[in-house]
Amino acid sequence: MTAFDAHRPPAAEDLDTCVHCGFCLPTCPTYVLWGEEMDSPRGRIVLMDAALREADVLSDAMVTHWDRCLGCMACVTACPSGVRYDRLLEDTRPQVERNHPRTRRERLARRAAFATLTRPDRLRVLAPLAGAAARLGARRLGRALSDSSRLGAVLRLTPERHGRARVPSLTPARGEMRGRAGLLLGCVQRTFFADVNAATADVLAAEGWDVVALDRPRCCGALMLHAGAEPEALALARELVAAAEDCDVVVANAAGCGSALRDYGRLLDDERAAAFSAKVRDATELLAADKPRSPRGRTELRVAYHDACHLAHAQGVRAEPRALLAQIPGVELVEPDEWELCCGSAGLYNVLQPEAAAALGRRKAANLLATGADVIAAANPGCALQLQTYLEEAGRPLPIVHPLELVRASIGA
Ligand code: SF4
Ligand code: SF4
Repeated sequence: MTAFDAHRPPAAEDLDTCVHCGFCLPTCPTYVLWGEEMDSPRGRIVLMDAALREADVLSDAMVTHWDRCLGCMACVTACPSGVRYDRLLEDTRPQVERNHPRTRRERLARRAAFATLTRPDRLRVLAPLAGAAARLGARRLGRALSDSSRLGAVLRLTPERHGRARVPSLTPARGEMRGRAGLLLGCVQRTFFADVNAATADVLAAEGWDVVALDRPRCCGALMLHAGAEPEALALARELVAAAEDCDVVVANAAGCGSALRDYGRLLDDERAAAFSAKVRDATELLAADKPRSPRGRTELRVAYHDACHLAHAQGVRAEPRALLAQIPGVELVEPDEWELCCGSAGLYNVLQPEAAAALGRRKAANLLATGADVIAAANPGCALQLQTYLEEAGRPLPIVHPLELVRASIGA
């Protein structure tokens, strides 16, 4: 008996790796918040096991506990037995979307998010309206609504600014060329954080990479993939694999996107996709791998580096962004407590599960503020919006930048 269909259910051998030791519990944000066994990695694995081997339907309770998971993968980092919770969740979520009837309200919320956030053409129209709404007090109004209100969450997160920089289709390498780097422009990233893309292209070119802007497809599918909307995500993945065929490396500067790109090989299960995934690097990882060519100018700044979960836990990239920032003379890196705990952003999580996301956002903001930093460096657009929201709520809206923006400023590119 099984409640999953035959299309890639979570693998029994992955489930069996969990020895229920509980080492992952203190790093799981939902367990930390609520202390509920079924809202821990171990509990969610037990539910997956029950769905695979004992149940004939996916119950509301199972889906509720899986939905409450942020997909932050802190449990993967913490687990001494090597449990691949990342694969388990990635296989469970599409099963839920196929085999569990969601309410009309839930379906609409997801559809509305995908129809806007993954569409740069629509975001470009909405961005100035969002900016105007923010200036008129949308974020303040959001803070006045309850933490559990999804409308309140959307209002609290309303971005005031959007980037205007454009990345040319080719930014030629300076000096001897190291290779051809395809830079993923993304969807939210290219609209609200276009300056981050421009800084990434400038720094890569200054360090010897020919930078090709991967402006198609419109989105890499990460947001959909992490929410279980697999068919839509994989259609975009196939397009991106084809678009980057002639690149030596594929560069992501948004943690959630990079993590999805590395999974294409397994999900599409073909050689081209596997070759693509093998070429994926986070921008900080690619740059930290080589001796820097451009001299870094002095920048006196106390910087708190915020680990985005999809970079630190899902891709294992922690040392590289720190190494890159440490190359800037005058930069003092400071470390917040509870680095491993998610800030609550997690793709659509801060809108779909606003109460837990708000609690985590406040906790993260307090830890970052306690460092006494002048600026926060974060390599994911979702984290940047979430941190901005809760730093502002705390009355201390520190600047939040991508590490590559600091590097660009230091080399004057
Ligand atoms: S996921 Fe890993 S750390 Fe957590 S209970 Fe299972 S074996 Fe232990
Ligand atoms: S992915 Fe994050 S929220 Fe989900 S079980 Fe693992 S640690 Fe907990």
